Amino acid sequence: MSIPGLPGTHADRSAHNDSAAVGDRAEEAKRPGARRTATHCPYCSLQCGMHLVHVPGAPLSVAARDFPTNRGGMCRKGWSAASLIGRGDRLTRPLLRDRRGGTLRAASWDEALDRVAHELRTCCSRHGRDAAGVFGGGGLTNEKAYMLGKFARVALRTSSIDYNGRFCMSSAATAANRAFGLDRGMPFPLEDIAATDAILLVGSNLAETMPPAISYIDDQRLRGGRLIVIDPRATVTARRATLHLQNMPGTDLALANGLLHIAIKDGFVDEEFVERRTSGFRLAAQRVGAYWPDRVERLTGVPVRDMQHAVALLGEAATAVVLTGRGPEQQSKGTDTVLAFINLTLALGHAGRPLCGYGCLTGQGNGQGGREHGQKADQLPGYRRIDDPAARAHVARVWNIDPDELPGPGRSAFEMLDAMGRDGGVRALFVMGSNPLVSAPDAARIEERVAALDFLAVCDFFLSDTAQRADVVLPTAQWAEEDGTMTNFEGRVVLRQAATPPPPEVRSDLAVLAGLADRLGCHDGFPSEPQAVFEELRRASAGGPADYAGITWERIVTEDGVFWPCPDEGHPGTPRLFLDRFATPDGRARFHAVSHRAAAEEPDEEFPLYLTTGRTLVHYQSGTQTMRVDELRASEPDPFVELHPVLARHLAIEDADLLWLRTRRGTACARARVTPDIRPDTLFMPFHWGGAGRANLLTNPALDPASRMPEFKICAVRIDRVQTAEAGPNRPIKGDTT
Ligand code: SF4
Repeated sequence: MSIPGLPGTHADRSAHNDSAAVGDRAEEAKRPGARRTATHCPYCSLQCGMHLVHVPGAPLSVAARDFPTNRGGMCRKGWSAASLIGRGDRLTRPLLRDRRGGTLRAASWDEALDRVAHELRTCCSRHGRDAAGVFGGGGLTNEKAYMLGKFARVALRTSSIDYNGRFCMSSAATAANRAFGLDRGMPFPLEDIAATDAILLVGSNLAETMPPAISYIDDQRLRGGRLIVIDPRATVTARRATLHLQNMPGTDLALANGLLHIAIKDGFVDEEFVERRTSGFRLAAQRVGAYWPDRVERLTGVPVRDMQHAVALLGEAATAVVLTGRGPEQQSKGTDTVLAFINLTLALGHAGRPLCGYGCLTGQGNGQGGREHGQKADQLPGYRRIDDPAARAHVARVWNIDPDELPGPGRSAFEMLDAMGRDGGVRALFVMGSNPLVSAPDAARIEERVAALDFLAVCDFFLSDTAQRADVVLPTAQWAEEDGTMTNFEGRVVLRQAATPPPPEVRSDLAVLAGLADRLGCHDGFPSEPQAVFEELRRASAGGPADYAGITWERIVTEDGVFWPCPDEGHPGTPRLFLDRFATPDGRARFHAVSHRAAAEEPDEEFPLYLTTGRTLVHYQSGTQTMRVDELRASEPDPFVELHPVLARHLAIEDADLLWLRTRRGTACARARVTPDIRPDTLFMPFHWGGAGRANLLTNPALDPASRMPEFKICAVRIDRVQTAEAGPNRPIKGDTT
C-alpha cells in the first residue's frame, strides 16, 4: 500500500509485483493436478509465507499465501525464488581436490565424507581440538544450526565455531541482553507497528530490504502516525518519513544521546515508568548532559531544530516503537549505539507496554533462530550461555555426555577467520551455509587466511566463492527440498515444508553431519530427520531463555507460527514480551551510560570520504542465489557505488563511469550511480557481488569490544581512478555469479 502524495518507488513496484505475472501464477495454482505446499521464502528474516505450486510437467512456481508478516505480498526475490530449483549449475555430486592447486573432480559420497572426517581427525591430533573449525550461517534452519553446534562440541569437541550472523545482529543482541535481560529481535509482532503512534527507524531501508513489511508502516502513516528515519542516505524508506535525520555515518550514538538530552530538558521523560520499571537512569542522564544540541549538530550534521522536532514527535506520542537495522549496529561501537537508543526508548516510557518497545530488524532468514541454538561461539541451545554451569549440565544431559567434555567459548567469527593457518588458530575448516570470502570484512585478508588452511570443506548447493577454494565440496539440498523450522525477526517459529525431492546424489545438511559424526566415532545422537532433530532441540531448549519446549510442528501449522518462549504444549506462546517485567533478575530494564566515539577510521587527507555498505532491493547477502535468478540479475547486474552530484562534479565523474575505490585494505571497482540521495561526503556500495566488485575488499574489520561485530558501515575511502562509461568496456566487472 502506498501513501497518497508520496512518490511511488521501485520498492512499491516490487512489493505489489507485476500484476499480470501474479495473475498467471494464480491461474497456474488452480490448474488440474496442481499441488500446493505451504512454506516460506528462502531469503530474509520476514519469512514471507508462500505456496510452492507443483503442476505435473511444469517447473515449480511460487504463489501468494496470506501470512501475518506479508499478507499475501512478497518482493521480487520471493516471487522468483523457485527458479533456483533445478538450475543447470546446481551442485549434484560431491567434488574433491586430490591436492592443493589441483582441480575439483567428482567423487562418491563415501570418498568425500571419508576425506573430510580424515582431515578433521588428523588436524585435531596434530594441532589440538580447537584447530578444527566450524563456520555456520544465519540462513540455516533451527535444526541445522542446532546440529552444527552439537557436531562441533560433541563430534569434534572443538570450541572453534561461529557463524556469519555475528556480522548481522550481534550488537543489537548484546545490547538487548544487557538492557532487557533477553534478546528477541522484536519483542512484539510486526502488526503492532501499524497501530503505534510513532516509529523511530534507525539505519534501516525497510522499503527495499523487506518490502512487504513497509505496508505496516504505510498503514501506520495512514492512521496519522509519525515516522522518523535516521539514515545518512535519503532512501525510499526515508522518503516516506514525517522527518528524516540525515546524519553523518558513525554518529548515531551521539545523535541518540543528543535526543535524550533534549527529552530530559524539554520534560518528556516518563518519570513514573522510569521509577517503576527501570534502573540506572541517573547515570545515563548525567552522561548525556554533555550532549548539548549545538555540539550534537556539529558531531552529526543534524540541525538542532530537527532533533527537537524528533523528540517532540516521540515524546508527545502515546505509544511508540524504536527499531534499529544494520546502520547503527555494524559499527565498532554498535553495542553502545543500540544501548543509547534503548536509553531513549526507556526514558520516554515507550517500552514494556502494548504497542511500544525497542526492536532489531534482523536480516538473514534465520538470523533469530540461528543465534539461539548453539552455532554461536559462546552459546548452547535455548540461547543458553556456554560458560554457565547449569546450562552446560542441562545440555550435556540431553546430549548424553559429561558436562566437562563440553568445550568453552570460542573466538568470534572474524577473529576465528583471521587466525586461520596461524599458530593457535584453525587449520581445518568446515563451512555450512556461508560464503565468508564475500561476506566477511577485509575480504582479501580472509582470502589469504583461507589459502593458509591445511583443509577446507564447504557444504552448499552452488559453487560459491568460498566453495571454489575448497578441498571438498558437499552438495546439499535447497530450501524447497527439505523440511525445517525457522524463527523470524518477531521470534515466531515457522515451518518450511519440502515441495520436491532433491536430485538423487544430493543430501541434506543434516545427513552430511550424521555421516561425518558417524565417521568421527559418534554412532548415534545425530539423526538426519528434521522433525527428530526438532524434538531433541525442544528438550535442549527447555527452561532456557529461548524455550521451544511447547512448540510442535502441528501447532506451527495451525497457529501461523508460534512465538517463543513457549515452555509447554498448553502455553499459547509469547507474542509480546516484557509487558509485566523485563527479563533481568530484578525485572527492571537497565539504562547504560554510553559515550560517542569516532569510528575506527575517519576520513583524512589520503582517504577523504566515508564509505558505507548495505543491501539492494533485488539481491540477497553474497548473491550466491539471487545472482543466478535471471530477472534479478538483469535488474541489477553489476556492482555500483552511489555518490552525490556535487562530489561527482568535483571529480568529473559521470553516471555509469567505472570507479576504482581504494581503502587501506584494498581496491574494488563499481559503476558510478550519481544520486542526490546521499551525503556529498559519503559513498554507498552494496555488498552482494563477488570478484573485483566486492565491497568487503574495502571494509574495516575493527570490532565492537562487546559483540565482536566488525565495522562494516564506516571506513575512509578515496576514488582512485575513473574510467568513463564511453571509453570503458561494455561490462568489465561482471558480478561474480557466486
Ligand atoms: S526476501 Fe524477505 S521480503 Fe522478500 S519475499 Fe522473501 S521474506 Fe519476503
